[in-house]
Amino acid sequence: MPTDSFKSLAAPLDVGPLTLRNRIVMGSMHTGLESTTEAAGYDRMARFYAERAKGGAALIVTGGFGPNAAGRLAAEDVPFVSIEQARAHKRVTEAVHGEGGAIVLQLVHAGRYGYHEDSVAPSPIRSPLNKSAPKELTEEGIAQTIADYVTASMLAMEAGYDGVEVMGSEGYLISQFLAPRTNHRKDGWGGSLENRARFPIEVVRQIRGALGPGFLIVYRHSVLDLVEGALNWDETVWVGQEVAAAGANIINTGIGWHEAKIPTIAGVVPHGAFVGAIGKLKRALSIPVTASNRINSPALAERILAAGDADLISLARPLLADAAFGKKAFAGKPAEINVCIACNQACLDHYFESKVISCLVNPRAGHEADYQAAPVPKKKRIAVVGAGMAGMAAAIEAASRGHSVEVFEAAPQIGGQMNLAARVPGKADYASAARAYGAQLQALGVPVHLGRRVDAKALSAGGDDEYVVATGVRPRPLDIPGADDSRVVSYEAALSGHAKVGPRVAVIGAGGIGHDVSLFLAQADIESASDPAAFARRWGVAGTAPELGAPARKVVLLKRQPGGFGRTLGKTTGWILRQELKDLGVEQVAGVTYVKIDAAGLHIEREGVARVIEVDTIVVCAGQVSENALATELQALGKSVHLIGGARLAGELDAKRAVEEGVRLGLAI
Ligand code: NAP
Ligand code: SF4
Repeated sequence: MPTDSFKSLAAPLDVGPLTLRNRIVMGSMHTGLESTTEAAGYDRMARFYAERAKGGAALIVTGGFGPNAAGRLAAEDVPFVSIEQARAHKRVTEAVHGEGGAIVLQLVHAGRYGYHEDSVAPSPIRSPLNKSAPKELTEEGIAQTIADYVTASMLAMEAGYDGVEVMGSEGYLISQFLAPRTNHRKDGWGGSLENRARFPIEVVRQIRGALGPGFLIVYRHSVLDLVEGALNWDETVWVGQEVAAAGANIINTGIGWHEAKIPTIAGVVPHGAFVGAIGKLKRALSIPVTASNRINSPALAERILAAGDADLISLARPLLADAAFGKKAFAGKPAEINVCIACNQACLDHYFESKVISCLVNPRAGHEADYQAAPVPKKKRIAVVGAGMAGMAAAIEAASRGHSVEVFEAAPQIGGQMNLAARVPGKADYASAARAYGAQLQALGVPVHLGRRVDAKALSAGGDDEYVVATGVRPRPLDIPGADDSRVVSYEAALSGHAKVGPRVAVIGAGGIGHDVSLFLAQADIESASDPAAFARRWGVAGTAPELGAPARKVVLLKRQPGGFGRTLGKTTGWILRQELKDLGVEQVAGVTYVKIDAAGLHIEREGVARVIEVDTIVVCAGQVSENALATELQALGKSVHLIGGARLAGELDAKRAVEEGVRLGLAI
C-alpha cells in the first residue's frame, strides 16, 4: 500500500509551542511503571516510551501521576511532587526526545476513586468501586489541590516534559466536580454548571498562568460520561470551550466513567464506536481534538481524520500491541502491524493484579529489556510445526534474528485457536491478529506450508537443526454414558460451523470457552459487535434503556464446581460477558454431576436431585488435551525438539501464554 494512503495521519500539526510530526498520540495508560522510585524503574519507563516514539508516535502521554498524595490512585502509587523525582524523569523525556517524539506527563487526581484512606472529593459520596467514602474537600483544600496541579506542572517542565495532560474524564476528581451526582456542594464549587466547572477551568488557567505559552496543556475531556447525573451534551460542549479558553492546547477525549455499566474499550465495542460524538465535539471547538477508544488500525485512524472528526488519534493499547504502528503504516506496511484485540488480558488485567502491563500479542511491551533480540551466532535451519500464535511467534523471532525458518500447518489457514475465538461476538480482531503475524512471516520470507500435516519421519528427513512443535490442542472429549450421541459436539465443531446446533442447547463446562460459546449460541444480534449504532442501542449509550434482542437459542450453561460463574474470566472484561449471558437468559447451573445422555436429553444430578435437560445439542467445552505426539516421535529419532504452547501444556492454555512461549523460544534458539 503506498505511503500516501495515510496522508492525513502522517501530516504534521502545529499546536501550541510544538509541531507534532504526525497525528499519532500515545494515549495514557496505567502501566504499573509509574510507582517506581528507583533508577532501574526510570530506565525501564524511558525504554518503554522511547520505543513508542521510535515507532512513530508524535506525542506520548505518560501513565497518570497524582498531583498530590490524596490524588494518587493506589496506596503504593507515588505522586509527582518532588524535585528529585523530576530530575529522575529526565531520562524518560530525553529518551523520547532523542527519538524525535514529544511527551507530556499526565496529571490525574483520583478523587473518590483513590484506593487509600486519604482520598478526597467534592462531596463525601462513596464510589461504587470503593469500600470507603472520600473526605469532603474544604475550600482551602480545593485551592491547595489546584496549587498542587500547578506545582506538579512546574516539576514536569523541570523534568523536560513538553507539557501535561490534565485528566478530566473517566470519573476521576475533575469529573466528580463537574457532575451533580458526585458534587453536592453548596459553596462556589457546586450547584450551577459554572460553579461545578470552576475546578477544571481554574486548574488549566493557573497552569497556563504559571508556565506560560511555551508549555503544552492537553485536557482529557469526558465526551460521554455514560452514568446518570453527569453532564448533558450542551454542558459537555460548554466545558470544552471554557477549558480551551482557559489555556488548553488540545482536547483529548475520554469515554465513560469507570463505574459506567456500558463497555467502552472491550472487544464488544465496535471500532470507532464513539467517533460520532467526538466529531460533534470537535466541530464545536476551535482547538485540536484527539479521537480515542477502539481505534486499532491506521485505516480507521485515517478515515476519522479525513472525515474531519478529529485532528489527532489517540492509540493506547494498540501501541502496546505494536510500538512501530506509525512506522509500519507510513512505510506502507499496515498489514504487518500487530493488532490489539481489546482483550485487556495482559494490559489492564495485569495492572489490576499489581503487575507491570504487557500485551498478549506483544509480550515485549513494558518488558523491553527482557526481550532483547540478539543476532544469531550460527544460522540454523528450523522447522516449526503449527501456525497458531505460539508457532508463528517463535518463527517470527527466530527468522528476524537470522535463522532459516520454515513453517508447516495442517489446517488450510494460519491462526489455530484464534480463528475459533474470532467467531465469538466481539472477538473478530483475533483473526486480524493472526493475519498480522502471517504478514510478518511473509515479509521475513518464511515459507508457510498450509494444509501440510507432517509426520516425524518425513519431517526429520529434511535435516533441520531444530524442530519447534507448536501443534496446539484438541478439545477434551466428554466421558459419560451416551457421550457418543450424535447430539454431542465439541466447541470446535460448534464455533467453526461444522456442527449444526439446534434451538435447545446444553453447554458443558463453564470456563472461558463455555462462556464464549454460550454467547455465540444465544446471541442473535451479532450486529452490535461491529455497528456503532446497533451497539449504542443495545447498551443504551444515549441514556435510553438497553434494547435487548430475543436470544437465538435456549442455552443452559453447566459446571461441576459449585459457586459463581465466570470467576476465571478477565477482571476488566468478565463483567461484560456475565451481563451479556444474563441479558440473553442463559441459565447457569453449578455443582452438577453429569449422569448420562439418552433420548430424553442430558441427565444431571444437583444436590441429590435428578434433572433431565431436554436438548437438541450438547456442546462440550470441557477444556483441552495437548496435541504432542509429533514431539515424542521426533525425540525418539534423536532430534532437537522444542515443545511450546498448548502442545506443551493444555491446562489453562491461553493465547497470552502461547505467544509468550513462542517469543521467548524464538529469541533464545
Ligand atoms: P477451562 O477454563 O479449563 O474450562 C474448562 C471447564 O471444563 C473446567 O472449568 C471444568 O469445569 C470443565 N471440565 C473439565 N474437565 C471436564 C470433564 N472431564 N467433564 C466435564 N467438564 C469438564 O478451559 P476453557 O474454557 O477451554 O478455556 C481454555 C483457556 O482459554 C483458559 O485458560 C481460559 O481462561 C481461556 N479463555 C478465556 C476466555 C475469556 O476470558 N473470555 C475465553 C476463552 C478462553 P467444572 O470442573 O466446573 O465442570
Ligand atoms: Fe490489546 Fe490485549 Fe494487548 Fe491489551 S493485551 S494491548 S487489549 S491485545
